[in-house]
Amino acid sequence: DGIPDLQARVSVCRACPRLVNWREDVARTGRRASFADQPYWGRPGPSFGDPDADVLLVGLAPAANGTNRTGRMFTGDPSGDVLWAALHRTGFAALPTSVSAGDGQALTGIRIVAAVRCAPPSNKPTPTERATCSAWLERDLELTEASGLWAILCLGAIGWDATLGAARALGWGVPRPKPRFGHAAEATLRTPQGRAVRLVGCYHVSPHNTYTGRLTPKMLDAVLLSLRS
Ligand code: SF4
Repeated sequence: DGIPDLQARVSVCRACPRLVNWREDVARTGRRASFADQPYWGRPGPSFGDPDADVLLVGLAPAANGTNRTGRMFTGDPSGDVLWAALHRTGFAALPTSVSAGDGQALTGIRIVAAVRCAPPSNKPTPTERATCSAWLERDLELTEASGLWAILCLGAIGWDATLGAARALGWGVPRPKPRFGHAAEATLRTPQGRAVRLVGCYHVSPHNTYTGRLTPKMLDAVLLSLRS
């Protein structure tokens, strides 16, 4: 059971009642006016990217009118607009924008997942929801490890913490004390076979960071370029 099987299983998960209600309510009745005539995905966001990726990008969670609408990670919201432009500038993405299935967008060498796969109200998943969704991240880590994973880029502290938790659950070596999240923070994880995997932090591409200049395109490009193998 490889990545397509995992994507299919994730996309029908109903393990978190609050998030199932929210994602489906937004899809049915809570659509943003400008998207009112569009069909909404209304399900968990499956991973998107290169099936042979050796870099995994871990975000926070889908946006209610972004991934929850388009069905593709970081697609259809301001955070995604910043990320895709940077992925294109640094040679990971075929196109500078990501719109929807069939737009020709493709990633090389990187696959995008999220700590929580369903859109949470106010972008805030509960600790229980984060813990429940961790099983999917563990499986994604295992599958990417099998294709030569050498670096994990975490956008934001929640993605960072989720990755450390999933790595611990898989029996990977995680430094103690727990490495602290920060922009361009780095730590080394060890797979059970003893292989080193770089853990790299990056401020999240949310408008809160990009509109205020806390995260600039230059900072984002520098982190992404450090992941080119
Ligand atoms: Fe399933 Fe994760 Fe969505 Fe919870 S957040 S319903 S575990 S996919």
